[in-house]
Amino acid sequence: MKVSWIFIGLVLVQCASVSNSKIGAVDPKEKPKPTSIVKPTNIVLVIGDGMGLAQVSAYMYNVEGKIAFERCKFIGLHKSHAANNLITDSAAGASAFSIGEKTNNAYVGVDVNGKSHETILEEASRKGLATGVVVSSTIVHATPAAFIAHNVSRDAYEEIALDIVDSGCDLLIGGGQKYFTRRSDSLDLIQKFKSKNYFVTDYFNSDYSSLVIPSSQKLLFFTADGDPLPYSQGRDYMIKASLDALQFLDKRNDKAFFLMVEGSQIDWGGHANDVNYVISEMTEFNLMLNKILDWAEKDGNTLVIITGDHETGGLSINPGSVRGKLTTQFTTTGHSGVMIPVYAFGPGAVNFTGIYENTELYLMMKKILFK
Ligand SMILES: [Zn+2]
Repeated sequence: MKVSWIFIGLVLVQCASVSNSKIGAVDPKEKPKPTSIVKPTNIVLVIGDGMGLAQVSAYMYNVEGKIAFERCKFIGLHKSHAANNLITDSAAGASAFSIGEKTNNAYVGVDVNGKSHETILEEASRKGLATGVVVSSTIVHATPAAFIAHNVSRDAYEEIALDIVDSGCDLLIGGGQKYFTRRSDSLDLIQKFKSKNYFVTDYFNSDYSSLVIPSSQKLLFFTADGDPLPYSQGRDYMIKASLDALQFLDKRNDKAFFLMVEGSQIDWGGHANDVNYVISEMTEFNLMLNKILDWAEKDGNTLVIITGDHETGGLSINPGSVRGKLTTQFTTTGHSGVMIPVYAFGPGAVNFTGIYENTELYLMMKKILFK
């Protein structure tokens, strides 16, 4: 009996010393670590509209060497379906990324009940982070609209344009000037942007390649009156625009930034069942992606996430294909329901592995951007 009490006493002393070492006692040999994070991580979300694994593969087998995507060591898959349809459109697909809600097809920046939700870009802007959107479609198109507007109809371009005035977005580059300047309500949205300290110009006034962005203002640059040209027909602003955006947003303040870049027309090639259109758009996307990854690598504090909102065309690469000469087939002129790869590069990239809903991207980005 006496021995047992001594044993229990010893155990208690042992426990006390273990818990002491955990909560209080400082080992003199262990110096306190300096706080390493001085600035939250910037996020660049690069969306290939309609870009599934087949689109990336078709491009990859048409070129020699490694493609930009292979620089990403952390890869996941997202489930792209909408709230009301297994096959999502770009509106619901992008809204999952921007507001973290599965919503109905055609809805941008609103939930299934049509209720507006603050988007990740709008929240970033409200919190003083720099924000930007660079697209190869119009800036009122479904994907950008999901980040800077709220509507139950992706086709309500004039209403979407009006929302963009108040989005707070620091940099907007893309087509669709007519929805801002020749409106059925006769409103002059350009004056509204100018009164909010935007430098507003367009392809007609200056070629994008010679544009110098005034650092003291926000930027709205229209690259086309309607849809920008396909890459194969001379569209050439995306690479410079995405690099300009990175530099501009990085210098804007000492907080992090959020940039959404979209290769919009990969989707249009899929709808047209035109594999050359798809591959040509992927060529530009890959060039741009390499530049973005170079910039992020040098910066060291920028997370780049590359994904599609859905796949378009049900593209397959068939037997008989050889590198440089593919035998391809489309199964639809619409979108398909396959899971979509997510490639991540930079600080926090490890979080993007696994299989998850597309809405998870919003949650993970938010955690990193607003930590
Ligand atoms: Zn589409």
